[in-house]
Amino acid sequence: MARVVVIGGGFGGLASAARLAKLGHEVTLLEANASLGGALGYVEKDGFRWDAGPTSTLLPAVIRDFFRKSGRAAEKEIDLVPVEPARQHRFDEDTVLDLPSGSRAAQLEAIDAALGAGEGGRWASYCDDFAEVWEALRKDYFERPYSREHASKETKALLDTKFTLHKLVEKEFKNKHLRTLALHQARFEGHEPRNVPAWVGMWSYIEQNFGSWTLPGGMGQLTGVLTERLRTRGVTVITEAEADDLVVDVVTNKVTAVRATIAEVETDLPADVVVVAIDPRRLPTLAKLVERTMPVIPPVVSHIGVVGDVPELPHEVVLHGDPTKEPTLILRTNGAAPDGAHAWTVLGRGQLAEDIVTSLQRRGIRVRDQVEVRVDRSPRDLVEDWNGSPQGVLWQGRGTVKNRIGTSTPVGGVYCAGAHAAPGGGLPSVGLSAALVAQLVGPA
Ligand SMILES: Cc1cc2nc3c(=O)[nH]c(=O)nc-3n(C[C@H](O)[C@H](O)[C@H](O)COP(=O)(O)OP(=O)(O)OC[C@H]3O[C@@H](n4cnc5c(N)ncnc54)[C@H](O)[C@@H]3O)c2cc1C
Repeated sequence: MARVVVIGGGFGGLASAARLAKLGHEVTLLEANASLGGALGYVEKDGFRWDAGPTSTLLPAVIRDFFRKSGRAAEKEIDLVPVEPARQHRFDEDTVLDLPSGSRAAQLEAIDAALGAGEGGRWASYCDDFAEVWEALRKDYFERPYSREHASKETKALLDTKFTLHKLVEKEFKNKHLRTLALHQARFEGHEPRNVPAWVGMWSYIEQNFGSWTLPGGMGQLTGVLTERLRTRGVTVITEAEADDLVVDVVTNKVTAVRATIAEVETDLPADVVVVAIDPRRLPTLAKLVERTMPVIPPVVSHIGVVGDVPELPHEVVLHGDPTKEPTLILRTNGAAPDGAHAWTVLGRGQLAEDIVTSLQRRGIRVRDQVEVRVDRSPRDLVEDWNGSPQGVLWQGRGTVKNRIGTSTPVGGVYCAGAHAAPGGGLPSVGLSAALVAQLVGPA
């Protein structure tokens, strides 16, 4: 049995801790904040409750696998339901697409209807081309710790490619709205498509085939369920405990402890294994390994409580603009509100030259005068509150996969999970990162 210290109590740290405890290790989790969850949690004010970060997830199999491998089946504890439509895309006043989730045929039909006959087929064939990409990457990168020695030729070529998502989309589509659709996910996650490798487009294939999923009542409830799982698995959780660095034996190059400030006292917590589920930049021992990367800047976020009559809207509405001139606004409607009111979150990406609710008003969702409660969070607030960016590493071209930290590190006993580690940000990848760590550490 190894003494494991997990640093960070976001989804990556919680999932790693539960998996390793189930494998028989003695696990302690350190969280700098007073509460667990990181970006996965709620913001509450005056009877309104909003998801602070994620409101849906792709690849529900990742969450189901986590539940199975750490104790009880997901169905016994949470109610994952499909989001339908995945989202509404408003390209301009006249062009609106309710994009179905989890069905190729339904997407084809909806796109034909919204963007013109034949465009649905073009989108379907674009997504089809990612089936093999996903198969290759799934086996060598997402579900097994990446190693050049074991990876297939296809995977290595994909991960090494200079071919960008931007180039692929320009080549594939003449229709400007299809281009916008194909680039949406990367842009929403804060990336410039010219710096994103083409294979990242596979998330469109994944959404088309496996759907988008949520928890009624908010994704934030996952934190409560995961916290309970840590309790039943006997994980020691220490909150308000900030890890300052790793202590490494210079002779063996193995980690021996985590240096942390707990209740304002510097303490060395002995460890045989450390799982770093935070931005590694925060730990001087690892910072030099990732000095060529940059964190993603999170979006501008405004949680609003709206009273009175509002238009009927799906789970998520994306208001696209010309990305060089206007911000993209993402409206998420799944918050919990008192009777007769609505808890919405508006996310802004791009140049916001005016108040985000005014921007929403100008772009056709006219609720500015009905906003009764409001919590604004700038990108800086988010990074400060969560002690780092929950969106992981910025794509900066083909070197990014190499420059980003992997599941294992050059320091013996130190593994990385979470949005800053392979395979990247977003709940599916973060959940998979915890499974990769568990594979490498193995049973006690
Ligand atoms: C606004 C927003 C919307 C999003 N929407 C979606 C979505 O709809 N779907 C989706 O799949 N993903 C979404 N994401 C991304 C997703 O939320 C994240 O990728 C994921 O939650 C990251 O989990 P994590 O554990 O890596 O990091 P975090 O959630 O950032 O957790 C890291 C934790 O580590 C703690 N910590 C940091 N430093 C230290 C230290 N030195 N010592 C101890 N503890 C420390 C922090 O306090 C924090 O609790 C969204 C993100 C944002 C910001």
